[in-house]
Amino acid sequence: MNNNTVFEFDSGNPGPSILIFGGIHGNEHCGVKAIKMFMKNLNSGRFTLLNGKVTFAFGNIPALEQNVRFIDKDMNRIFVDDNFDEFKGSSEYERVSFLKTLFEGKDAFLDLHSAKSPCLDFLISEEESLILASELSASFIVTGWKNFSEVAGDTENYALSKGLKALTYEAGQHDDMISVENSYSMILKFLSAHGIINYTFVKREAKVLNLKTLYLKTHKSDSIAPKIENFTFVKKDELLIDGDRQVRAPFDCYLVFPCDPNGIKIGETICFLAELI
Ligand SMILES: [Zn+2]
Repeated sequence: MNNNTVFEFDSGNPGPSILIFGGIHGNEHCGVKAIKMFMKNLNSGRFTLLNGKVTFAFGNIPALEQNVRFIDKDMNRIFVDDNFDEFKGSSEYERVSFLKTLFEGKDAFLDLHSAKSPCLDFLISEEESLILASELSASFIVTGWKNFSEVAGDTENYALSKGLKALTYEAGQHDDMISVENSYSMILKFLSAHGIINYTFVKREAKVLNLKTLYLKTHKSDSIAPKIENFTFVKKDELLIDGDRQVRAPFDCYLVFPCDPNGIKIGETICFLAELI
């Protein structure tokens, strides 16, 4: 099962040990494609590992083959140790059991994802990895996910719990070629920041956004008043949710992962609000 889905490269020199995943969600192929591109360039000698080691792994193999997010369980919600066995019997259980073993002895972790709708690339980072994130020239860095239980069980927080520095990268829209390019360049930047390869890039300061709150769909009539696009800026007191109830922005904020309330059920998340820090 792990043939051709886990790849380890060792420079032969001391240095950090890096772990990079692509395709934890099976409809997000950009990470897998970018990893393949990088390995091709490594094998052809275009890049040489200078220090340390890097391990690449593909995530949800059956879901990748079927181009679906997951088969039985969202893989990015079941990277847990406590009560992990409750996922036994799902298509994802054995694979996640194995992938969890790869974190052992590693120093830093990067997980490559993409999104349903077009959006600028961004890094997700908790406080302990913010300095690393700020070195990687993403457009945005979104922090503060830890405060939301809705998004627990993800690879990044699993890595953090094992003492690694860890980042999730959202590269753009699933099928956009730019997402593959973004993922590829994030691999290079991530490895370069750890001294694994030699790669120079333009340093750009990212906007750092701290997630403060989220809104659930509570009424059938709920609609989002501003443009439904990631990182749309909304001024304090501007109309945010319209319909039978009206909600105004509690502070100057950016929308994160907003979605059309028409397409979701009561109780599901309409959007997160983040504050610029
Ligand atoms: Zn994803």
